[in-house]
Amino acid sequence: MANPLDVFGENVFSEKIMRERLPKDTYKSLKKTIDEGISMDPKVADVVANAMKDWAIEKGATHYTHWFQPLTGITAEKHDSFINPTNDGSVIFEFSGKQLIQGEPDASSFPSGGLRATFEARGYTAWDCTSPAFLKEDAAGDVTLYIPTAFCGYHGEALDKKTPLHRANTAINKQALRMLKALGNTTSKFVRATVGPEQEYFLIDKSYFEQRIDLMLSGRSLFGAMPAKGQELEDQYFGSIKDRIANYMKDLDLELWKMGITSKTKHNEVAPAQYEMAPIFSFVNIAADHNQLVMETMQKVALRHDLVCLLHEKPFAGVNGSGKHNNFSLATDDGINLFEPGHTPQDNLLFLGTIAALLKGVDSHADILRATAASAGNDHRLGANEAPPAIISIFMGEALSDLLDQLEKGQAITYKDKTNFKIGADTLPELPKDNTDRNRTSPFAFTGNKFEFRMLGSSFSVSGPNVALMTILAEAFDEIATRLEKSSNAKEEIIKILKEFYSKHKRIVFNGNNYSQDWVKEAEKRGLPNNKNCIDALKAYATTKAQNLFEKYSIFTKEELHSRYEIYMEQYCKVINIEGRAAVEMVKTQYIPGVIDYTSSLAETIGKIKVINGSSKVQEGIFANVTKYLESAQIKLTALEAALTQAQDESDIEKKAVIYRDSVLTGTVSLRADIDVLETLIPKNYWPVPTYTEMLFLSAN
Ligand code: ADP
Ligand code: MG
Repeated sequence: MANPLDVFGENVFSEKIMRERLPKDTYKSLKKTIDEGISMDPKVADVVANAMKDWAIEKGATHYTHWFQPLTGITAEKHDSFINPTNDGSVIFEFSGKQLIQGEPDASSFPSGGLRATFEARGYTAWDCTSPAFLKEDAAGDVTLYIPTAFCGYHGEALDKKTPLHRANTAINKQALRMLKALGNTTSKFVRATVGPEQEYFLIDKSYFEQRIDLMLSGRSLFGAMPAKGQELEDQYFGSIKDRIANYMKDLDLELWKMGITSKTKHNEVAPAQYEMAPIFSFVNIAADHNQLVMETMQKVALRHDLVCLLHEKPFAGVNGSGKHNNFSLATDDGINLFEPGHTPQDNLLFLGTIAALLKGVDSHADILRATAASAGNDHRLGANEAPPAIISIFMGEALSDLLDQLEKGQAITYKDKTNFKIGADTLPELPKDNTDRNRTSPFAFTGNKFEFRMLGSSFSVSGPNVALMTILAEAFDEIATRLEKSSNAKEEIIKILKEFYSKHKRIVFNGNNYSQDWVKEAEKRGLPNNKNCIDALKAYATTKAQNLFEKYSIFTKEELHSRYEIYMEQYCKVINIEGRAAVEMVKTQYIPGVIDYTSSLAETIGKIKVINGSSKVQEGIFANVTKYLESAQIKLTALEAALTQAQDESDIEKKAVIYRDSVLTGTVSLRADIDVLETLIPKNYWPVPTYTEMLFLSAN
């Protein structure tokens, strides 16, 4: 096993490398830009570009790419070599500051949601110096220098996931610092969001994957009868890791470490064939870049092991789907975690102010947070007893809730600090007891010194949800800071604010079981939004409230926000369209022919048996039953095709999305019901595709 201390970050143009290779002044100036957001001197870029190129070439690089994150949700790259012709007909390797700072990929084939007419094809990529450049080697042995960049249109409009993240960083830094200063902090220079995204995934044997049109085209199985065993024995979660998977995970860790990604935790997840990786948290922008690399690397490494990594939110019905838990906090440059309560949170004004901001922000914009977790894939998870429901609430835990309740009643506040507990056997150590148990059902749970936003789907970029979190917090910090700045007694004022905000917004706090039906009813009584599906949820982006919020903090213009709404609605339609078409293809060309083969052979048998036996009641019964489902499937197939045509012909995006949701998706589900029954009636050798039993229980062998 390679020693992580040797390989970690070996392919990263890290701060350490920059310190070693850049002239002192250049390094200092660059560091100021990275840490404090001060604009960069173009001369600095030239020097950095040259050092970066030399380092990359020493490590075998021949190419560079501006790596960006368009609204497809995945990353994009176009490779250019460093070669430049000289007068004598040979070439040299060159890379200028201008090439480092700016790229001009043609933007016309990326989603823009009407932001850009197709004739305005220009797009720009701009170097994001806050996320370190790194090297990747492809299968051909070419080494490429990857430069993280933001991607925008000709008029500076954001066409990607990174630009708003930077804007939101600026907003939260400004507003949170104002609160800090008003509360007497004199040392901190900036506040940043920290994020640790836990990533769930499935691994399926490649040979099965290649026989499943649905997995190949839509990422999830559109058909498949539930095997006799699912996850009910709870024997997969944290189970011992099988050799084939251990080999995969080892390779994955190594690849991630090389790129400076702090892969830390790995384990079996709840569903058979499901796993998880969690890195150590980092600054949100880097966490977002790294999570994209994690997803790509998971898929790439899987192929080397003849496995396929599925990142879909619900690859298999009947067992858990995959999510992504966005662990979130705010930290200053000098090491203060704003969500750290300490031993006496009642005196920790910063913590109290931060909790006040969170209560207000999350309650006022629960609909927006919900929208950031909306996708066709995630619709299968939210509210399905494996993930939080579509209702946003905050789990505060006992100690913190108790403190807030006391505060509201105006009592002298006490706090149940951590204690120790005994296990009941002298040989076992006494353990420190957290003052709050965990709540695995909450979409937004306090976990001691950070919040865990647990609604995200496994394939999501973490940018969207964190942009929303940072923006709603920036708005709340703004209000709190304004009040504190006007007040003569910051301590009294912050307590007053928290009391007020808690009274007003405590409907968002829920410490119970979010999976229960009672909570759905209770939440409705409390007036909390419950946008159950993607297209209802996305409407939150189209409200004046959202426009005002994002515009006020310069995150999105009205047009930019609307373009995202359109793109996400279109994505929903496209995904359901692909699923519908893949279902039609499989049923027409695989399932129905398979069933017909079987029934023909059965019919022949019936004829023969009748001759010998005079009766073939059993065989005829089976024939009739199979035929019943075959006929039903044929009718549903025709209906699904009609629904697809109707949806494709509709030009209004909102109406179109409704047809996809209410006719195409439901049509696919209804067709599946018949096919899944047929799977249980047909001999295995007639069934044209691998089954759930094989995919879920044989893939790791
Ligand atoms: P869980 O028990 O919730 O599954 P994990 O250990 O799998 O916990 O993941 C917890 C994640 O939270 C890790 O990625 C960890 O680095 C991250 N984390 C810890 N502290 C913070 C923080 N202050 N800000 C953001 N993320 C954090
Ligand atoms: Mg975990």
